[in-house]
Amino acid sequence: QILDVSLNSVSFSGRKDNSEEFRKKYPHTEVMYEVLHQKFGLRHFRPHQEEIINASLTQHDCFVLMPTGGGKSLCYQLPAMLMPGVTIVISPLRALISDQVDKLNALDIPSAHLCSDVKKADEEIIYQKLHMREPIIKLLYLTPEKMVASAKVIDMIKSLYQRGKLARFVIDEVHCLSQWGHDFRPDYKQLSSLRKLYSEVPIICLTATATKQVQGDVSNILSLKNIKTFIRSFNRPNIKYKVIPKAGKKVVEEVASLIKSKFYRKSGIIYCLCRADCEKLADDLSRLGIKARAYHAGMSDKIREKQQREWMQDQFHVIVATIAFGMGIDKPDVRFVIHNSIPKSVEAFYQESGRAGRDGEPSYSYLFYAYTDAGRLKRLMQMDRNVNRNTLDGHFENLHQMVSFCENTVDCRRYLQLMHLGEKFDRKICMDSKDMMCDNCENVAKFKLSDVTKEARELSQLVNDLTRTENVTMLHVADVYKGSKVKKILDKRHDQHRFYGNGSGLDRTDIQRILVDLVLKKILTDFCTYTGDFPVVYIKSGPKFNTFSQSDLKISIPIGAAKVAAVAKVVKVSDDSPGPSTSTATKTVAVSNYKINCIRVSCHEEL
Ligand code: ADP
Ligand code: MG
Ligand code: ZN
Repeated sequence: QILDVSLNSVSFSGRKDNSEEFRKKYPHTEVMYEVLHQKFGLRHFRPHQEEIINASLTQHDCFVLMPTGGGKSLCYQLPAMLMPGVTIVISPLRALISDQVDKLNALDIPSAHLCSDVKKADEEIIYQKLHMREPIIKLLYLTPEKMVASAKVIDMIKSLYQRGKLARFVIDEVHCLSQWGHDFRPDYKQLSSLRKLYSEVPIICLTATATKQVQGDVSNILSLKNIKTFIRSFNRPNIKYKVIPKAGKKVVEEVASLIKSKFYRKSGIIYCLCRADCEKLADDLSRLGIKARAYHAGMSDKIREKQQREWMQDQFHVIVATIAFGMGIDKPDVRFVIHNSIPKSVEAFYQESGRAGRDGEPSYSYLFYAYTDAGRLKRLMQMDRNVNRNTLDGHFENLHQMVSFCENTVDCRRYLQLMHLGEKFDRKICMDSKDMMCDNCENVAKFKLSDVTKEARELSQLVNDLTRTENVTMLHVADVYKGSKVKKILDKRHDQHRFYGNGSGLDRTDIQRILVDLVLKKILTDFCTYTGDFPVVYIKSGPKFNTFSQSDLKISIPIGAAKVAAVAKVVKVSDDSPGPSTSTATKTVAVSNYKINCIRVSCHEEL
């Protein structure tokens, strides 16, 4: 049963319904408000909180999807205070746990955790409290590892259960349970035993990130029953989104000047694909006068903690990180998040960019996009030992959707992201938001769609022909189609092909965009292999190649002001030496851009 989405959450003060019937159904209401005011010191509920608490207190399993900072904790902390027995909270990170427990104890709400840093003597006291006839701990926090691996913990939970003192399970960051979540943690999977072992104990699942796929998966794994789902709008109206095509080797300079001009002394996060990229970008930025430091899983815990702490305390402003940085980061005044490379899914992008603007102030998300980065990421996924082979296709599909997101210059960025989170979003909200409009909404009037079906057919045929004898890159195909006279093409006699030069009237980027579109439509397919030190992305015909020539599928791409500007920039950068033709010049730039982005990475690293 889905309890419906309330779009555009407005602060909701007090109960909507004061009727006799309501009071009968929820007899705890009065006490609940008392606890809200007296214990938690809060005046009103935020949207959905009361409904969630009511559902939980009437023994429903709950699935709560709320943006970070939305107030999910209260949804289980308050019921824990109203019910006899102990609420067990499973949370993935020790840092998050001790933070929560400290906060609760400060409010005089008896809570504890059993993470590995608890001293033996303290641990004994906690166990004693839990074993009392009426346990005097209301909330007990555990990591999933502890929950499934410690015999002592398991015995204690069993004992609570047998004595009828196990009030409920709370699983925070529940998306970690699903392979399809952006942050899968194998330990979470073990939680599937909860329902079998403690069948009547209700479960509350909380997350700020779950697609329909993840919701279904979680509900399945945990055997949720009698479930109520609560979803709050995920739109982040104070974040402005922009996707910027990477143009030549200027990316570092562009990032630097962006930060200098717009975010002087403001906090920001830059996400990179791998450790080496982080180190390099942090160095480059420092050289350009921006205090930036790297953060990734290759650093010791101590150094990472230090980086994180000093960034939180504004001792430096820009942190250049892999996706290892993020979960549980709760810095309210992050003004920008830059993606230096493509994220692995739309959901991951939403989550990562969403670390900006927790305080509600205007904030910015910039994604520097190059199609080749997707190839590198694909390769990393293939070689990542933590990625289950069976789910690889699913991950590729997610990446594919992210590529579509970046290639899309037509649809509203908010609409596209929220669609992935299962929310229908009215574009008008973005179009009406003045300065905070996304890039595509800003550009909506500036481009026109052109029909390139003929070109697309020729290009797919060209790819198919050329790949009979060798691997080809998109750039190479685009050059042949454009009619370039570079040596490589002449040497290979590709100028003899019947479609050579047919695309001379098109921009090279537009040819590439047609090729990308063909890949997205699975008429072509791409793959990545290493040539010496560099991963190279090639294309060949895809699963739908054969049907394309017979179908009446039309291919159109938007050709617009933004794109033309980007192309002009690429050409200008390379034009200072008069090359044989603009085609070679552009190619040089593109290739060097490519190399810059292709620092060799160890593919077995945890990011
Ligand atoms: P989430 O887990 O959803 O990211 P938290 O539960 O950590 O969010 O809450 C975020 C902040 O919002 C906390 O500082 C919390 O005290 C505050 N908060 C939660 N509910 C309310 C409320 N009803 N009124 C005012 N502040 C609230
Ligand atoms: Mg939380
Ligand atoms: Zn928009």
